Amino acid sequence: MSRPALPRPVFRFAPSPTGLIHVGNARTALLNALLARRAGGSFILRFDDTDAARSRTEYADAIAADLAWLGIPPDLTVRQSDRLADYGAAAERLKAAGRLYPAYETEEELELKRRLQRARGLPPVYDRAALALTDADRARLEAEGRAPHWRFRLAHRIVTWDDGVRGPQHVDTANLSDPVLVRADGSYLYTLPSVVDDIALGVTDVVRGEDHVTNTAVQIELFEALGGPVPRFAHHNLIILPSGEGLSKRLGHLSVSALREAGEEPLAVAAAAVLVGTSHAVEAVESLEALMEKVALPAISRAPARFDPEDLSLLTARTLHMMPYAAAAPRLEALGIGGGAAFWSAVRGNLSRFAEAQEWWQVAATPRAGLLAEEDRAFLAEAATLLPAEPWDGATYPAWIKAVKAASGRAGKALFHPLRRALTGRDTGPELAALLRLMGRARVAGRLGGAEA
Ligand code: GLU
Repeated sequence: MSRPALPRPVFRFAPSPTGLIHVGNARTALLNALLARRAGGSFILRFDDTDAARSRTEYADAIAADLAWLGIPPDLTVRQSDRLADYGAAAERLKAAGRLYPAYETEEELELKRRLQRARGLPPVYDRAALALTDADRARLEAEGRAPHWRFRLAHRIVTWDDGVRGPQHVDTANLSDPVLVRADGSYLYTLPSVVDDIALGVTDVVRGEDHVTNTAVQIELFEALGGPVPRFAHHNLIILPSGEGLSKRLGHLSVSALREAGEEPLAVAAAAVLVGTSHAVEAVESLEALMEKVALPAISRAPARFDPEDLSLLTARTLHMMPYAAAAPRLEALGIGGGAAFWSAVRGNLSRFAEAQEWWQVAATPRAGLLAEEDRAFLAEAATLLPAEPWDGATYPAWIKAVKAASGRAGKALFHPLRRALTGRDTGPELAALLRLMGRARVAGRLGGAEA
């Protein structure tokens, strides 16, 4: 593959399309996307789909849709299943360099070795018996019908990196088993394809969950063996449920799609996913750019990030309350809601879900009868006669209320509550002042008179 000229730094999110992504995966995706965006770099979506039996196109499509919904569409999408030839070429180069060797043990034989090592108080590290095989041994094993799997010969040295979250790290690879890169059936485990792709795509930064920290020393050796530059690594804490349980893609925990269907705001999901388990408070933000300014790898805690789904609804409401009209406008339009910025600023403070804007638009703009108590009819009829002539402006409502107050002698709840019920059919809602202007005189007068207006 010729390397696309992507602006640097280059970040990537590399899910396996074996399920829907959850909030924890969204954390990884957002950190990568926002760090890339802030640095003027690139964000790649890479589907780790070498496991043909478990990978599904539907999941890949759903993941891409989830990223778009979160506001972080990738600059480039690649699929590992398209790139098998490159992995084969890399494996051949490693073989030629003596870094990839065939081993023939069965899973049972390996398990027996590990048990014996443990019994002798030794760590269960692969003993490299396969390195001692002669050509004749290999020929005999293959004649017995055994196909080799292929292990990467580690350099047995101290590998170091400066982790963006965890600080300086060092691992002695002499304590690790030589990892299997290619299975006996010729399929690749995650390690080699990931490194080959990171080199081919010029990835400069790998930000991923700390469940991958144990892979890093091996991958660094592999980057070096393949002659690629080693990217910067950062391993963030994982999101857990209030029960302490980790999130599982397989169990469908907190999937981004389910949160979208439940009416949560993408920006609220993004803020929660990025800010939970950091030194920042989890709070609503006005835009993805504002969230981007808050992202800081060193602010990420080492302890797991406890995420309470209950908190998300509140964050969605707060996100709506501060949402600028420009952000709401295309969505209002898609729902057939008019009223412009005046409508949005009138109702946003009352929304707990975006879709509720539609109900308030109906209150403001479609004929309906209000709720009139018998004992309020005379008061409301009088209030209607006091309505100023149009055009209405910001001074209309206070002037009208003043006049209604003076004429009726009513104040407080006795004044406002019947007006609100007659005009909106509800006990609570947005400021009447703003709604009134959206409704216009004829509708207001009609509803005060008990008509469907
Ligand atoms: N496919 C791996 C995962 O989903 C990617 C890990 C990585 O970012 O290197 O966990």
